[in-house]
Amino acid sequence: MTDTLAFPAVRLIVRGDLLDFTDDPGFAAPDEAPGVRWREDHRVFVEGGRIVAVLPSDAPLPAGWHGVLEQDHRGHLVLPGFIDTHVHCPQLDVIASYGTELLDWLNTYTFPAERRYADPEVSRVGAERFLHALWAHGTTSAVVFPTVHKVSAEALFERAHAHDMRLITGKVLMNRFAPDGLLDDVEQAEQDCLDLIARWHGQGRQAFAVTVRFAPTSTPEQLVMAGELCRSQPGVYMQTHVAENRSEVKWVSELFPDARSYLDVYDRDGLIGPRAVLAHGIWLDERDRAVLRERGAQIAHCPSSNLFLGSGLFDWAQAQREGLNVSLASDVGGGTSLSMHRNMADAYKIQAMQGTRLSAWKALHTATLGAAQALGLAHEVGRIEPGCMADFAVWKWAQGDVAVHRDKLARDSHGSLHERVFAWMTLGDERNLVRTLVAGQTVFQSPSVV
Ligand SMILES: [Zn+2]
Repeated sequence: MTDTLAFPAVRLIVRGDLLDFTDDPGFAAPDEAPGVRWREDHRVFVEGGRIVAVLPSDAPLPAGWHGVLEQDHRGHLVLPGFIDTHVHCPQLDVIASYGTELLDWLNTYTFPAERRYADPEVSRVGAERFLHALWAHGTTSAVVFPTVHKVSAEALFERAHAHDMRLITGKVLMNRFAPDGLLDDVEQAEQDCLDLIARWHGQGRQAFAVTVRFAPTSTPEQLVMAGELCRSQPGVYMQTHVAENRSEVKWVSELFPDARSYLDVYDRDGLIGPRAVLAHGIWLDERDRAVLRERGAQIAHCPSSNLFLGSGLFDWAQAQREGLNVSLASDVGGGTSLSMHRNMADAYKIQAMQGTRLSAWKALHTATLGAAQALGLAHEVGRIEPGCMADFAVWKWAQGDVAVHRDKLARDSHGSLHERVFAWMTLGDERNLVRTLVAGQTVFQSPSVV
């Protein structure tokens, strides 16, 4: 390759086998699933960070495109960059910590790690490390929890904006049941949020999210303030956790005895709208799910986290039947990998435990276009389509002897495309990644691939 990270081309062509989606494949059998778009050996034309055309590679180059740098990835898969809808920047420091469920895990590992982010330099270095880690896993957009410190949100916005990356975040609201150094108060928190909105919301590809850690760590007064922010600030998102773990659900019912349910703690203060992203949602009841559907909110399903912390098995098929928006998320550091491959493979197993078969089409749609639609960003991300930003990842079909052998058998037997893609999804991870582009710029390139 002749391009480098330091000198991105204004115009660029990426060539490879394109896989993306035009509709939700749902839980249909793989060979009957709608919405799968497979374009073998195509060229994607990129100008000023956006996709301007997609053409078969045997079509003549459009006028003016002769001599433009071409990243030739023939034989590799090109997908829209993954969208991770729930992940904690500071928790890279505690990923893979042993032996606890949610509430102990927060006190033992997470809170001590998050305290360090009061230091602007720790926040800045942590944000840069985190964004590079996302790209090195093929993720190009994310909905992110920083810490309670305003500087931790500023650092994420600043670093993402410098790379023109789509990022949604906001300082964490938390004014009780956390150690000193991690608590805010209602007035200062509101002012910090308003400052961040004024500086960053709608700045390039940055968007602010009212970020309630979870119901227990905010007083009723702080939740009212958070709901007021959602109402008064146009276009802001809301992110939080809900019904992850049974002990947590019980604790919330004790703290908020007037609320009908855990979800109702948020809903009665106006936090649940079409821009609400609620992580987990395992232990909801039918009325809760109806509220989520009516509001157009989404559940960020976090497979590896739910398994690792023993939180429970999310019933995705039921959510689909009831018309809920569901996206996929790593929830690092409760989750054990930023890799959406590993999270999709875990999602398959969680559904299998409940008698449902999750196709690669459904999983991949959810991690790309499905998440984009749920976030109201399908005009920008989630597809390889003229007008969308040039956020994509280039993948090898197989890495390592077992996967290479399995892929060869799938190819030689002329089986379905799904067979090959499913094996790729299940056996693959970040080691399959060749290149990641954000707004047409290479932000990750595998050292092992020339
Ligand atoms: Zn989380």
